[in-house]
Order: sequence, then C-alpha cells, then structure tokens
Amino acid sequence: MSPLLAINDLRVGYGQVEALFGASLTVAPGTIVTVVGPNGAGKSTLLNAVAALIPKRSGRIAFAGQNTDGLSTEELAACGMALVPERRDLFGSMSVEDNLLLGAYLRRSNHKAIADSLEEIFARFPRLKERRAQEAGTLSGGERQMLAIGRALMCRPRLLLLDEPSLGLAPQIVRNVFDVIDSLRATGVSVLLVEQNAQMALRIADYAYVLETGEIVNQGTGAALLHDPRVMETYLGIG
Ligand code: ATP
Repeated sequence: MSPLLAINDLRVGYGQVEALFGASLTVAPGTIVTVVGPNGAGKSTLLNAVAALIPKRSGRIAFAGQNTDGLSTEELAACGMALVPERRDLFGSMSVEDNLLLGAYLRRSNHKAIADSLEEIFARFPRLKERRAQEAGTLSGGERQMLAIGRALMCRPRLLLLDEPSLGLAPQIVRNVFDVIDSLRATGVSVLLVEQNAQMALRIADYAYVLETGEIVNQGTGAALLHDPRVMETYLGIG
C-alpha cells in the first residue's frame, strides 16, 4: 500500500541553525508512527514543516500521493491533515463545545453531520461531554490535551500530527491519553506522534524512528525499539 505520508531527505533550518539534516520517513495508512528523541532533536520542527507552519529548505513531502509544495496549513487541513501543537492552542474563555465546533470550521458539512461528529467525540471522551459548557481554560492538563485531540478529530482527518501529547501530564493521565491515541487506529485515522516519552510512544507505535540532533539514527517496529539495548539505555533509563 502506498504511504499516506512520505517525507524524503527533509532539511529545515532557522537562520544559521540547521534543525533537520535530511530526515526521511513514511506513515502507512491506518498506522501509528512515532518519532522519539531528546529535547531539541528537531521533533517539533519536523511536524511543523509537514504541516507547512515553517518552510523547508529542501526535500520532498507527499501527502496521500500529492506533493505538498505550495500548500498552506489550511489547505493541508482541508485535505485531511490535522496538527495538535505542543502548546495545544485552545480558546480558554470559550466553552469546551465551542472549541470542538471550531475544529469543524474547515468542513463543508451540514449541521447534522457536524452534530454527529460532536456526539462521536463526546462518546470517545466522556469527560468532555460532562464539561461541554465549561470554559476550556478551567480544564485540567489532561482534559485540555483530550480537547485538543478532540478538536483536531472534528475535521475528520486522515492523518493526525501529535506534538508531545504527554507534556506536563501526570503518569496516569499520560496513560489515558495514549490509550485514546491507540484507539484511533481502529477508526482508520493514521497518527504521526513525536514524543520525548519514548516508553509510552514505542508501546503504541506500529513503527518508530529515533531522531537525534536533526538526524534519524535508528528505526524499527515499536516493539523492536522497546527492546533495543541502545534505545533502552538512552531513552528508557534501563541499561
Ligand atoms: P522539544 O522537545 O524541546 O520541543 P524538539 O525535538 O521538538 O525539542 P525542536 O523544537 O524542533 O526540537 O528544535 C530543534 C532545533 O532547532 C533546536 O536546536 C532548537 O533550538 C532549534 N529551533 C527551534 N525553533 C527555533 C526557532 N524558532 N528559531 C531558532 N532555532 C530554533
């Protein structure tokens, strides 16, 4: 099957700083792919370049078989690519429900279809349903992460780009968030997940890449990397 996302020899930089030195990776349809690596490795840079939030210097990015050159973030979103950024970008003074509805603004669907999606999201995230009228700014960190993912799902993406969903969350909440991500596979949504929490990310990933200072230094199935001695030592603190 041809990949949903294919990144080839991607180079990205900020002024004099080179952040990615020719990264290549693919995401097959219906799979969860993770990129793990330490702080500053270039993980956010990779996602932001894929979502056209920052320009690339060279390389090719193809989404659903189409070269994405020249497409804006909104155009990519309309084609089925949704980014959940590290800072989660919610509207704190708006209700949970209104934040979710904003996620559907790119869809040219009727009210009924959008209302159905809202109910699907509430079925997946019962906590959000309980808090649908509450201001997003009053949610806990875990609930905010769920809301950010729920909002991205409202535009019915084929590919979800998740930037460090575990950031700032307690271990039990991280497990809940990863269970939700894991469950997305069954709905046909593909996921590209970048994480410092290698253990959790590798557990749910079908395939994984290790990124260090802008280069992919290792790759394999999530299970294989979880048992790779070097990965265990460097990222899982087991050696
Ligand atoms: P983190 O987990 O800390 O977000 P990361 O793996 O996502 O790390 P990036 O944020 O992509 O890493 O950063 C990669 C490199 O690019 C780092 O050296 C960082 O300092 C640099 N960098 C990131 N954003 C900018 C920017 N706006 N201007 C200049 N340099 C930047």
